[in-house]
Amino acid sequence: MYKICVFPGDGIGQEVTKQALKILHTVAQKHHLVFDVHEGLLGGASIDAAGVPMSEEAAELAKSSDAVFLGAVGGPKWDGLEASKRPEKGLLALRQTLGVFANLRPVRLFKGLENHSTLKVEIIRDLDFLILRELTGGIYFGTPRGIESLSDGSGEKGVNTEVYTTAEIERIAVKAFEAARRRKRKVTSVDKANVLESGQLWRKVVTAVQKQYPDVTLDHRYVDDCAMQFIRNPKQFDVVVTSNMFGDILSDEAAMLTGSIGMLASASVGAKTALYEPVHGSAPDIAGKDLANPLASILSIAMMFEHSFQLSELAQEVEKAVEDILSEGYRTADIYGEGCRKVGCEEMGELVAGKIKSA
Ligand code: NAD
Repeated sequence: MYKICVFPGDGIGQEVTKQALKILHTVAQKHHLVFDVHEGLLGGASIDAAGVPMSEEAAELAKSSDAVFLGAVGGPKWDGLEASKRPEKGLLALRQTLGVFANLRPVRLFKGLENHSTLKVEIIRDLDFLILRELTGGIYFGTPRGIESLSDGSGEKGVNTEVYTTAEIERIAVKAFEAARRRKRKVTSVDKANVLESGQLWRKVVTAVQKQYPDVTLDHRYVDDCAMQFIRNPKQFDVVVTSNMFGDILSDEAAMLTGSIGMLASASVGAKTALYEPVHGSAPDIAGKDLANPLASILSIAMMFEHSFQLSELAQEVEKAVEDILSEGYRTADIYGEGCRKVGCEEMGELVAGKIKSA
């Protein structure tokens, strides 16, 4: 039996989580598995109920689970709150509580969606690689940081600091090489070692870790070159590992190779309990209208099967069901094209569940 903590969150988070749970229960029923699902509040929903973006109770629930699923948090209702009290703080607190330090984002183009990218079909057809972004270090957390006045009174200066330790680089490099062993055994490490000392250390440590994985090849790229290669020839990549800020930027660039943010799943892994969530936010513009694409959430459940429960076959079963439904031409509005059959969030979930049942 696996204990799963679920935070639907806000906006379309509620709608896509409902469909993700539908898939979880469908798989459980079919394969006689027991998933002990506990729902909690996070983000705006938690602010409304408990006055904080993540309560102690929610933190305890997450920590005591085998895996955590999150829909999305945030929305205009809470935009006026000061930064430390906003819904997004709940997500950062959750990541800290779970100690997740590596964010895995598969960049996979499903058949039939080639026309949703701005790139030529031959560049992106069958695209399938994985980005690992370091999640808890680097310039987003390093000190000193802040905005201070200049002593000569001529203005202010904004300061942020990129810091990485050997241990922080080693642990994400290990995750990257392990992931590559389950794929095509190729890691590309991305840094800016020609300009930054933190990048020089990054390159040195990743190179050292590779010695434990002689069956996996390693190449290094500067981030500016990598950004260009994503557009020029993205199929050359298998596993890309990089720092927090570079990963933030590169993964959004990569998202556009696959057509819609509504298709992108993610896993954040660390010491024990991993966190699974669609890459997208709460999409207030379409919330409550049954327009959201639930496939990113459904594919995040597939990642949970694979990474937290070592149920790779079930992960593949879910992915295959998604693939089949797309190849039959069913599309939510964000991936709709001429000649396709337009469906809502709820119906898309039903269709995928039906495929799993009948497979
Ligand atoms: P967003 O991802 O919510 O939406 C960006 C655009 O993509 C919108 O046009 C939206 O309609 C569309 N979109 C997103 N998900 C979709 C889906 N599943 N199906 C179809 N279309 C989809 O990003 P945003 O508008 O910048 O942010 C909205 C709110 O979400 C903000 O409060 C932001 O802070 C929050 N946010 C939360 C997370 C998270 O919880 N992990 C991530 C990003 C943004």
